[in-house]
Amino acid sequence: MELFELTLHEASDLLRQHLISSTELTKAVLGRIEAVEAKVKAFVTLTPELALEQAHQADALLAGRAEPPSPLTGIPMALKDIICTKGIRTTCASRMLENFIPPYDAIVVERLRAAGAVFVGKTNMDEFAMGSSTENSAFYPTVNPWAADRVPGGSSGGSAASVSSGGAFYALGTDTGGSVRLPASFCGLVGLKPTYGRVSRYGLVAFASSLDQVGVLAKDVTDCALALQVIAGYDPNDSTSVDTPVPDYHRGLQGGLRGLRLGVPKEYFVEGMQPEVAAVLRQALDKLSELGAELREVNMPHTGYSLPAYYLIAPAEASANLARYDGVKYGYSDQKAEDLWDAYARTRGHGFGPEVKRRIMLGTYALSAGYYDAYYLKAQKVRTLIKQDFDQAFKDFQALVVPTSPTVAFRLGDKTGDPLAMYLSDVCTLTANLAGIPAISIPCGFVDGLPVGLQILGPPFAEDLLLRVAYAYEQATTWHRQRPRI
Ligand code: GLN
Repeated sequence: MELFELTLHEASDLLRQHLISSTELTKAVLGRIEAVEAKVKAFVTLTPELALEQAHQADALLAGRAEPPSPLTGIPMALKDIICTKGIRTTCASRMLENFIPPYDAIVVERLRAAGAVFVGKTNMDEFAMGSSTENSAFYPTVNPWAADRVPGGSSGGSAASVSSGGAFYALGTDTGGSVRLPASFCGLVGLKPTYGRVSRYGLVAFASSLDQVGVLAKDVTDCALALQVIAGYDPNDSTSVDTPVPDYHRGLQGGLRGLRLGVPKEYFVEGMQPEVAAVLRQALDKLSELGAELREVNMPHTGYSLPAYYLIAPAEASANLARYDGVKYGYSDQKAEDLWDAYARTRGHGFGPEVKRRIMLGTYALSAGYYDAYYLKAQKVRTLIKQDFDQAFKDFQALVVPTSPTVAFRLGDKTGDPLAMYLSDVCTLTANLAGIPAISIPCGFVDGLPVGLQILGPPFAEDLLLRVAYAYEQATTWHRQRPRI
């Protein structure tokens, strides 16, 4: 087995026992990136010098110690290019920010630095996180490590592809409507979107502020728990961050499933779902019963309205958030303009790609006088109904189990001409963002050699429970140990 194939916790154990060094691990990962990056294209920016310097520092920290400061110390990882990194270009895969170098770190980055993490680079994504396939990157699409003709999912597709191909032991992504969970499912990884308010959004470039959360992409549930532990927790810089204690996620993994009541909302087994994917999911549900959980069907009557509600609320917030890219303060600025209005038009016309423009127009329309009540306000009311479906379900069930996606990874180019078809990839993931609840996707099988994801949804701040359910399933299966051959 090659070093880059290890999980984060395996690598961390070897570091603790002084059997390998962080420098060796980092060189192995950088070598792997060099070997596969031309095919996978997971990264926008690579930071090999920084990584080796951080590895060197980690080795100094680890030397002569029985316990590393953190399980993340000395472990190479990747960051989605929407998370601000001081002194390292942060592009959001947009021409608008192609040369933007943030003057500060996001809080999650600060926490990772403090834990001794090693940063290998910034990962590719859909422009400003708008998309489900990473094909909306202004630079190039990322390729699914499992199949050269398939998308890795989006918008955190680069983060998923980097971990799945051995270019990072884990990665951070962001999830506004499914952008951590969908790529996790398409690339055979564990992907967790925490509760809204669990992880600081400070230093995260805003897409839709009431929905955005930073999440983890990892090779297994243990790794996911270890990474979440470091990034979770109150941050006074983010007014929506919640000041509630962070449990010991790793210690909580062992509880098992016996006696747990899990709901299965049939609304998530949508029309148009690939029958083979549905079959794989049914088997996963059977496995959960076998392991001692009690599964029962539950009604979530407003699920079907989540897609229209999301595609009003998210673009509305995006249209406001993206107003700041005016060519005056920072980012791309068109210098050939004749007057101020012309400068705005040119800057925004050239700086944004087609999907971002579509969202700005949708959002501006939904918020405009005369339409606000009919669209935006209505969508907010629907959002409340969706939240109430969950409140109701969590009275009877500790968690819900559903598909992450109705299909396996689709072909590159398949949906680029049809925005609505692309939006439909998120039907199973949007609800968690609208309700603000945590959700995890874990590998549960394959269809035609492509990974399938099982999604577990829980009440606010039940990340520990989600990880426990996921861990019990994972320990009874081997899907998470499969690696793509590139
Ligand atoms: N695919 C969804 C969108 O395009 C979700 C993206 C995300 O979670 N960032 O809005």
